[in-house]
Amino acid sequence: AGLVSIFDEGWLRRVYDEKPVTAVRSRFPPEPNGYLHIGHCKAIAVNFGFAKHHQGVCFLRYDDTNPEKEEEQYFTSILDIIKWLGFEPHKITYSSDNFDRLYELAEELITKDGAYVCHCSREEVNRQRGGPDNRGTRYACAHRTRPIEESMAEFRAMRDGKYQAGEAYLRMKQSLPDPSEGNPQMWDLPAYRVVENNHHHRTGDKWRIYPTYDFTHCICDALEGITHSLCTTEFQQSRISYDWLLERLDMKVPKSNEKGPMQREYGRLNVGGTILSKRRILMLVEGATAEKKNADGTIEKKVIPPSVRGWDDPRLYTLVALRRRGIPARALLNFVEELGVTDALTEIQPPRLESSIRKHLERTVPRQMLVLDPVKVVIEDATPEDEQDITVPYDPKGTIPGERKVKLGREVYIDRSDFREEDSADYFRLAPNKAVGLYNVAFPIRATSFTKDSNGHVTHIRAVKAASEKPKTYIQWVDVATAIPVTARQYNSLFQSDSPNTLDWKTGGWAADLNPHSEVVFAHAVIERGLKDLIRESESSLHPSGSSDRLVRFQALRTAYFCVDIVGSTEDAIVLNQVVSLREDKAK
Ligand code: ATP
Ligand code: MG
Ligand code: MG
Repeated sequence: AGLVSIFDEGWLRRVYDEKPVTAVRSRFPPEPNGYLHIGHCKAIAVNFGFAKHHQGVCFLRYDDTNPEKEEEQYFTSILDIIKWLGFEPHKITYSSDNFDRLYELAEELITKDGAYVCHCSREEVNRQRGGPDNRGTRYACAHRTRPIEESMAEFRAMRDGKYQAGEAYLRMKQSLPDPSEGNPQMWDLPAYRVVENNHHHRTGDKWRIYPTYDFTHCICDALEGITHSLCTTEFQQSRISYDWLLERLDMKVPKSNEKGPMQREYGRLNVGGTILSKRRILMLVEGATAEKKNADGTIEKKVIPPSVRGWDDPRLYTLVALRRRGIPARALLNFVEELGVTDALTEIQPPRLESSIRKHLERTVPRQMLVLDPVKVVIEDATPEDEQDITVPYDPKGTIPGERKVKLGREVYIDRSDFREEDSADYFRLAPNKAVGLYNVAFPIRATSFTKDSNGHVTHIRAVKAASEKPKTYIQWVDVATAIPVTARQYNSLFQSDSPNTLDWKTGGWAADLNPHSEVVFAHAVIERGLKDLIRESESSLHPSGSSDRLVRFQALRTAYFCVDIVGSTEDAIVLNQVVSLREDKAK
């Protein structure tokens, strides 16, 4: 990170300069209807970061106006992730805290002739708005001119249960009949609706009517004293209705940013090659039943089993998944900063994220020797003096402090892929009569012979010290006697397609595109005993990476970056997740 932050110059600076108050107050307003994804990381960095930079405060506001979709697990996880990213909400609020006040303001709006109760069908409202493409002539709703007292009585009737969902709406009296108003956000938007499954997790059965986003958001911003209301550009068209409502309620002054909140819109962060939509992730998490209509009209049901282990499966791009995969919070925030913030959409592919994470890990995590597919090598002429503890720095370049003791024994594991039964001139690792170096060991080894089982699998290799030879390559190894068995999982793209969003999500066509190699499991991997020290150090504050989340991350030499899985590991059954590869992957 440079000395100049995204808040010092550019788009975010200009937003501040438009309203340069001393007490900045911002908010992050997620809907508690799913887990946050990588795009939300930008929203968190922008909102919390903006307040922090200007010595202000940022609220976490759960936008809980849609009782049908909310679940407790989402509330908990959202706060947990914000804290993991290193931010602390100044205050936690809920849109529902303001339900009483919002209702009063709705009545006030009716009294000011700024809203009316409408009983039109969805189709009729669409016609009022110019039909299917909004190309036709727009006209006013028949209820628009009803007397104020009548709207008031009907609004109270809505509240008191006279109407079913869809039978009545409170609509804002904006500019629907005005032919010169081309912004659909001004075509008499609904402010309140009747909800059928009306039970709310915080207000219980008190309300049968709930305010819409367009009515709620700006008023909550104003009630909470938000100064800068930063949201994504799909709300650009809403800025005018945001201001309209606040001005009608005297919470804002026309054409001025002096009083009330100021909404500004930045570009979303989208990651290609994966899916971020909550609804689609749910299909991956829970599986799905797809319905396909055959030519003869019959309907075929296809049950698609779950394709990931949960919302935190490391192959997903939810923030819980990225955390579990081992991506450090700091690295994610740096990445968002690197991309910068403007009003343009930022569309990236996973390799760009991975390369940024890799750069971060390169300078922050210790090295370890891990063997994914072990085969035993017996160094037949090793003497008791050769069998020793070798002191090795956590980082040969010395960027990360600390060292560990690596045990060398007479028997070591090397990776099966580092041995060949037949040597050739262009091959530089272990083979009969060819020497290879072992990292940090004083002498290279030369293979003499090997044994195979009935399946033709090499079971062990015999070797001798080859002190006089100059090996072309050094490989990782693990002492057999002290090796820790681990399960290592490597991850590849979940889909074969580069644009899974364009797959057929309606009739289950996406299932055929799932990458069968999205997870590759090495169930018999081994790692140096030093991993236990890293785990212990992470529990105290000595962890060489200095990370705050206590996850154990390391670079497995010649293999990949890994992280100890926090969910699946036990004391004696350690599971490792690949964070990122060492180099950009050539193929999937
Ligand atoms: P999605 O549709 O992807 O589920 P959402 O917009 O419905 O997301 P919210 O819970 O409303 O999710 O999001 C909370 C905040 O995060 C909003 O201010 C929203 O603008 C912002 N946000 C959501 N997705 C992104 C993204 N991809 N990039 C940047 N900010 C985002
Ligand atoms: Mg939203
Ligand atoms: Mg959404």
